[in-house]
Amino acid sequence: MGMKFQMMQPAQITELLRRRQITPTSQRVKIAGTLFAGPAHFCAEDVYARVNEDDAEVSKATVYNTLGLFVAKGLVRQVFVEPGKVFYDSNTQPHHHFYDSGTGELTDIDAVGVALHELPPLPADTELDGVDVIVRIRQRQSKDRPA
Ligand SMILES: [Zn+2]
Repeated sequence: MGMKFQMMQPAQITELLRRRQITPTSQRVKIAGTLFAGPAHFCAEDVYARVNEDDAEVSKATVYNTLGLFVAKGLVRQVFVEPGKVFYDSNTQPHHHFYDSGTGELTDIDAVGVALHELPPLPADTELDGVDVIVRIRQRQSKDRPA
């Protein structure tokens, strides 16, 4: 996975933002630092809680706006698991996900681990932009119990 998922220094984060044409304000650097602290999937509420761990200095609006900007600039990618549940993923390489509906946890599946043999014909005047698979899982129900 390279250096992306090692703890990044603020200078590295600043450089990462600049490369994506994002002005590195201190709040954006803080939010990006949270997102790139590990190979993780965060919802906006998680990001908001983490950036304000020490002192509450980043507003909810700033967190949402910044995440929107990061998505638009391709720095992170959005994963929609169900209505109202969006994850921000710092892994922008093609890959898929397991989503555990019981725990709400999202985990990566390597792109080569999912074989897609056939896609339907694309609508006219469109081209393929990517395929995201979410494999939905849950804890197995006990077989001993009568239904
Ligand atoms: Zn992911």
